[in-house]
Amino acid sequence: MLKPRHQVGVYHTPDYFSVDKSLELLIKDWGGEDQIFPKNSTVLLKVNLLFAYRPEQACTTHPKLVESIARKLIKRNNRVLIGDSPGGWISLSTMDKIFTVTGMKKAAINSGAELISFDQGVKQYSIPRAAKLFQIKLTDIMEKVDFIISIPKLKTHGLTLLTGAVKLNYGFIPGSLKGELHVRFPDFRDFADVILDLSEVCPSDLIIVDAIQSMEGNGPAGGTPINTSLLVGGVNPLEVDYILAKIMGYTNPLEIPFLQQARQRKLLNPEKIKLQLRTDSWIYPDFKKITKPGLFLPPHLSRMLLKIAGTKVVFNLDKCQHCNRCIFSCPAKALAKGPTIDRRKCISCFCCQENCQYSAIYSEKPWLGKVLEKIWGNA
Ligand code: SF4
Ligand code: SF4
Repeated sequence: MLKPRHQVGVYHTPDYFSVDKSLELLIKDWGGEDQIFPKNSTVLLKVNLLFAYRPEQACTTHPKLVESIARKLIKRNNRVLIGDSPGGWISLSTMDKIFTVTGMKKAAINSGAELISFDQGVKQYSIPRAAKLFQIKLTDIMEKVDFIISIPKLKTHGLTLLTGAVKLNYGFIPGSLKGELHVRFPDFRDFADVILDLSEVCPSDLIIVDAIQSMEGNGPAGGTPINTSLLVGGVNPLEVDYILAKIMGYTNPLEIPFLQQARQRKLLNPEKIKLQLRTDSWIYPDFKKITKPGLFLPPHLSRMLLKIAGTKVVFNLDKCQHCNRCIFSCPAKALAKGPTIDRRKCISCFCCQENCQYSAIYSEKPWLGKVLEKIWGNA
């Protein structure tokens, strides 16, 4: 099959009922179904299933998009699996709840696809070209399928600023191991290298981003849905994320640490991107982004500054249902019943926020961070 390297397509998609039309255009731009989709194969649709969020909350990949892609693949006699590994320890019954609430179960039934939990088989992988993560345990699902289509959701993220195609690979790490990596690599620059390293071993053959309804503000779980009305297709996760950053209104996407580091490691060359626009408007300058103060400072200074001026998690006890999920999901053991937080232990990984399905945890910048943001912008 043809792999149009460096091509990123942006398609106007006003709502989830228009998905088929956009997919048809995307397929045409890539040279037709035979060039873009396999036949008689096992295909994994790697989606974002952060936790049991309803589709309209815009936390997870929308099931209508997944269903449409699955239908097209099944027509070509493929076996289609839909899956992800959400954060924290997930029992089979919790996974079933996640599939139901996110609408994935219905999408699978309607299309004839199968649902799969990634936490059933694990294998050790080496990453020889890694900057930080030379060995990692990952789900072995990658070895059981012939073709992988990543279907991320465009959202803000407290730690990585943007979650799209690159960060989606974090879901190949089984449940609680995700938290351990946050503890090993608490610095945002190191974590940026970690997700870049992961991209080396988590191949996707095709990426189709759900940027129809995205999340702005307090992402990745407590933000606000925003109609960006776009479907984005590509094959290179870094190039796709570069364009997603543009959609979010970054005039310079390299302000995002993992894109900046990808550029430094020569993994990304924005000049090579061949952008195909199938829409009149695609940049949202007022998209509410998450900012980090002092990104341009040397690491030890920016680390100190982030401690006092960086975005912090805050609990809204009026919304809290005392499910304790945040406490179990905190890799730094910074949370106790209440919930209460020990700020000295907190590494600002935002795992608790990702895991609170009641939007009772939000991120807030201290006054110093707000002042610096006014002076420096996102720098
Ligand atoms: S903050 Fe959220 S996750 Fe934590 S106990 Fe309350 S409802 Fe549960
Ligand atoms: S309190 Fe939340 S943000 Fe802080 S370390 Fe724990 S999970 Fe991460």
